[in-house]
Amino acid sequence: MTIDASTLRAREAAHFIPVVNRLPVAMVEGRGARLRDANGREYLDLMSGWGVTCLGHCHPALVEAIRDQAGRLMQTTNVFYTLPQLELIERLAGVLPRGVTHAFVVSTGTEAVEGCVKTAHRATGRTRFVSTFQSFHGRTLGALRVIGQDKHHGPYRALLPERSLVPFGDLDAAKRALLDDRDGPPAAFIVEPIQGEGGVNVPPDGYLAGLRDLCDAAGALLIFDEVQTGIGRTGRWFGCDHEGVSPDLMSLGKGLGGGFPVGAFVMTAAVAKKLALGDHGSTYGGNPLACAAANATLRTIAEEKLCDRAASVGEQVMARLAAFAHEHPDLAEPPRGRGLLIGLPVRDEARAATIVSRSLDRGVVVNVTAGRIVRLFPALNIPEDDLWSALDVVLDVIRGG
Ligand code: PMP
Repeated sequence: MTIDASTLRAREAAHFIPVVNRLPVAMVEGRGARLRDANGREYLDLMSGWGVTCLGHCHPALVEAIRDQAGRLMQTTNVFYTLPQLELIERLAGVLPRGVTHAFVVSTGTEAVEGCVKTAHRATGRTRFVSTFQSFHGRTLGALRVIGQDKHHGPYRALLPERSLVPFGDLDAAKRALLDDRDGPPAAFIVEPIQGEGGVNVPPDGYLAGLRDLCDAAGALLIFDEVQTGIGRTGRWFGCDHEGVSPDLMSLGKGLGGGFPVGAFVMTAAVAKKLALGDHGSTYGGNPLACAAANATLRTIAEEKLCDRAASVGEQVMARLAAFAHEHPDLAEPPRGRGLLIGLPVRDEARAATIVSRSLDRGVVVNVTAGRIVRLFPALNIPEDDLWSALDVVLDVIRGG
């Protein structure tokens, strides 16, 4: 029996709160870089659930780890030690930037950001946060307080204090915002090493190092939101590894669980010392099932050398897109990104608006962000055949095919 789009719409409309714009398909299965819908149709996936399923769909190591843990113990609350959580914080400490050693495990990226914002306030006693225009940090009130996108911030402005926003990549502006104390001393500067939702914006070389120096001079903490750029996505474990800069705090999510909901906020020992018993908690914090999924994901990324793969395959994709932009300067601008987080700006926003549904019609799942940036963030292990076939379709769609 097939399920048509109007049936899906009608069933959902009866009971779902209409805050999400859906594509008219129900996905029921995934393997590697392929998805299958309820009608048996197959799709190539360049989006991996918003950059989450970094090992592809249903990687055997991840499925096995979840199955095994589900049969042992799923939840204890964090009043007990659990072995999966101990393993996870040790694994993280082994790959995190130098000096970042302590972690609290949560369930989503937004919660991880929230943890960073709370901790920065507790550690400094200050209340002013500096962040960047076009940034995305999540949808809870703590995250909306620093988000740089008005479409998300606007509806809740009345609940939020004034933001201190500066252009992304601009160290002079960051310096003014951090060192000018007229609005009070800054608690922290929060920034994505590459802005994801904001359009895959890569800052100039030296930006993160410059922010590190400015934060130190201002007595402010530096927070990297690595929810999208972390866990191998950019071809290194973390986006900040490209500059060798360590933050005081970092938020993680998305790829950490390979598809299972898990995030973490991590910090230096010096910052961790400023938190006291009871300062944070969560029913699901350190949930054994989530930690088992994260452990399997981190282990598989290391074993299958997926950071290196993301770097090398990403370079080939960039070259391919650069050639496309060169051949079609009227259609696209040169691509930007790192590893397998890549954006191709399409010149015509009206054309960009149709790319997602036209690609889907042709069996490819792709994302467009910031109005006209085709964002590619496939699984780090996407088979090359699938990658190039999917890309051919997307480029043909951009050409108007
Ligand atoms: N920070 C960044 C940089 C993100 O890209 C996202 C999700 N797009 C979030 C935070 C929020 O993560 P989640 O949706 O898992 O809560």
